[in-house]
Amino acid sequence: MKRLDCLKAIYPRLEGCAVVTIMGAVAAELYSLGHRANFFYLEHAMGLASSIGLGIALAQPHRKVVVIDGDGSVLMNLGGLTTLARSRPNNLVHVIFDNETLLSVGGGAPGGYKWFTTATATGADLAGIAKAAGFPRAQMVRELGDFEEATLDAINGDQLSCIVAKVEAEMPKSFLMDVHMLENRFEFPRALQTKGGVN
Ligand SMILES: [Mg+2]
Repeated sequence: MKRLDCLKAIYPRLEGCAVVTIMGAVAAELYSLGHRANFFYLEHAMGLASSIGLGIALAQPHRKVVVIDGDGSVLMNLGGLTTLARSRPNNLVHVIFDNETLLSVGGGAPGGYKWFTTATATGADLAGIAKAAGFPRAQMVRELGDFEEATLDAINGDQLSCIVAKVEAEMPKSFLMDVHMLENRFEFPRALQTKGGVN
């Protein structure tokens, strides 16, 4: 399963949501599908996408918040899962693309997958950890159809959810992102001030 195909499958449903991605490959791939003002690409802050998402979810309880994360980042801030579960916002969906490697910081280089693996490569189960942390819904998916069904169901649902998607360790075609971090920092909160918060 490819991360880009997963993003394509849920992209139309992200309209009106607050979307926070972690840095690197997943941000570049979401951007490549078409930037929207309601997308925030959290650069240079590994592990903290879910923390930003939690703040938004608590501040705007009627808006759906979709956090798009990676295994390396989540493993860097496992406490983020327990904090999410403790607050348990029913409007937040945490999507974790688990490619079992730190792709964006070396794992994507030739042979890098051998040296930049994460603990999920040796058995750590992020969906299991999320469930044990207290997420009412946490599941792992390996097929595109299952990913689409589970994620759309979670976004349309009404409980804190974690979807862990096992994906190939594949670099994006390009890391080009022609939206400046500072511009994104201001356009994103402006987009969240618009009507349409109920989603
Ligand atoms: Mg990874």
